[in-house]
Amino acid sequence: MNLNPNAPTPQNAPPAPAPAGGRTLRVIGLGHQYNPNWWCIREIELEFRLGELVGLVGPNGSGKTTLMRALAGQLRPTAGEVRYRGRPLARYSSAELARSIGYLPQSVRSSFNYTCEEVIAQGRYPHQNALGILTRRDREAIERVMDWTTTRAFAHRPIDVLSGGERQRVLLASVLAQEAEFLLLDEPTSALDLHHQVDVFERLHQLSRTGLGLIVITHDLNLAAQYCDRLVLIFEGRVAAAGAPGEVLREEVLRRVYETDLIVDRNPVIGTPMVVLLGRHGAQLARRHNGGGGA
Ligand code: ADP
Repeated sequence: MNLNPNAPTPQNAPPAPAPAGGRTLRVIGLGHQYNPNWWCIREIELEFRLGELVGLVGPNGSGKTTLMRALAGQLRPTAGEVRYRGRPLARYSSAELARSIGYLPQSVRSSFNYTCEEVIAQGRYPHQNALGILTRRDREAIERVMDWTTTRAFAHRPIDVLSGGERQRVLLASVLAQEAEFLLLDEPTSALDLHHQVDVFERLHQLSRTGLGLIVITHDLNLAAQYCDRLVLIFEGRVAAAGAPGEVLREEVLRRVYETDLIVDRNPVIGTPMVVLLGRHGAQLARRHNGGGGA
């Protein structure tokens, strides 16, 4: 992983490089049942490439985490399979899988009072030998990701005493230290303030330009529109829409899927799609403004 601080910002970034020979994460006919009467996700066909940042969006309970767990090889799907470099994830050893795919779940519990540096160092496990001693290369990677996530100040503090947002950045640092080719992040910005939300998205975008594949679950459609190359909208366990943010963030689709009144405008500076929530009052005003038509 090349954490280059001088990488271009999204505004002037070059397009994602062409995918490296066959190094795609492919989802083939994927379906999963937690119980025999109900398919949580079904008939999912997707392809993710190195060098792109993809946002996985959709309402609560639509199956995003289940899909991501299958993509990370953490869940054995009921139907279909996930392949990386053409090989089913089920045929990877756990160390090999960890060097290929890093996964940051939504909530991570630490049962011991590890320091932040120890938590970050745990991300190096797929690179370590049986003795588990950190090499110079491990230490350099840990230093880099601490700078990158601005978590150095917490290095010697127990992770349990941090705020939710600080903790989230340390856990992100830990999965970055893994130096996997694909990173799957389940709501990595949910506890972050505005500054750190933008910072994380900006850096994830930079990382994608160094050749990593990134898939991020987020509820922030506007940041996703601003930074992601593609969005995949999951609804009731299926892919409801996939493509460039402008193709996916359509008013009629979002209103139906999220069951809320909204309009899709344009970010006045950058020009990316901007979702504006109306609420009941806003919807009434919009109807009045439109002469009685829908919002
Ligand atoms: P999302 O990430 O979009 O909120 P999830 O994949 O977490 O959706 O969950 C989709 C549905 O599957 C939800 O209805 C949830 O309750 C159910 N579900 C998730 N995990 C399990 C599980 N381990 N056992 C049974 N049901 C589950």
